Amino acid sequence: MSTGSAAALPRLSSPRRGVEGLMVRAWGGKDLRLTVIAREQPAERFVRLRVDLDGLLERDEVYPTYWLRLWFETPSGKGHQRAYTVVAPDGATGTGCLEFYLHPGIASDWARSAAPGDGIDATVLNGRDPLAHSPAHLLMVGDGASYPAIADTLRRTGELPVTALLQAHDPEDPQIMPLPVRAGADVRWLEPGQDVVAAALEAVAAAPEGTNVWVALEGVPTRRLAGALRRELGLPKERVHSLAYWKRS
Ligand SMILES: Cc1cc2nc3c(=O)[nH]c(=O)nc-3n(C[C@H](O)[C@H](O)[C@H](O)COP(=O)(O)OP(=O)(O)OC[C@H]3O[C@@H](n4cnc5c(N)ncnc54)[C@H](O)[C@@H]3O)c2cc1C
Repeated sequence: MSTGSAAALPRLSSPRRGVEGLMVRAWGGKDLRLTVIAREQPAERFVRLRVDLDGLLERDEVYPTYWLRLWFETPSGKGHQRAYTVVAPDGATGTGCLEFYLHPGIASDWARSAAPGDGIDATVLNGRDPLAHSPAHLLMVGDGASYPAIADTLRRTGELPVTALLQAHDPEDPQIMPLPVRAGADVRWLEPGQDVVAAALEAVAAAPEGTNVWVALEGVPTRRLAGALRRELGLPKERVHSLAYWKRS
């Protein structure tokens, strides 16, 4: 029997979910409990956790960009729900990875100290496959929070032509992690301060027919870009996947 300190014991994040939990359940969200198997920190601001996915891969198609609602816990024990992307799913082991771009925040803090054996509740109630409608080309626009989804999509889409524009927020850390290099991929970090919406509109205007556009930025640029894609460029709804990944406070 271990005589180690309490800090070394596995932790479980299974908070009271309150009204938010009731709403997610009413919308049909399905519950899982994830368990951390391994942890690595490939960069100062980036943590990767391999987790057991509690049978998710047998029940659902985990397409690139697929995400889960994770239930973190506030210091007072309340639920703090935040979305994270499942990357590198492995059907043979029933596992996948969660990758955290670190900044001040409860979810980031949880990842900073997560260790094998820790558990966290999760709910499946999420978005749409950006590869639906067989795109001829995929244009992805994101930043640190959507880096995991973009890098995983690049790894999992063979030679599908993908253009990815990433916005770096921190001039001290312009390249959070290297992006995968492969045939058919045109991937670049924008200069700090460069207007991501203008750069994205230019890229969309130059993109071939049959391009799906995936946008996952902070709330304000996400709304600006999604609006411009529909109003100014007239892109059909089914070709645009846009979701604010975080909110500046
Ligand atoms: C569908 C979806 C999938 C996502 N997948 C991932 C993923 O795989 N990996 C990942 O790291 N994030 C991902 N995110 C973003 C993540 O959910 C948010 O960043 C979330 O707000 C983090 O929660 P927190 O408790 O750490 O911070 P919060 O309590 O939400 O915020 C605390 C402070 O940090 C700031 N902040 C929050 N997020 C960021 C950020 N990304 N960059 C800079 N400052 C920030 C806020 O403005 C606030 O000041 C995803 C979001 C969505 C909607």
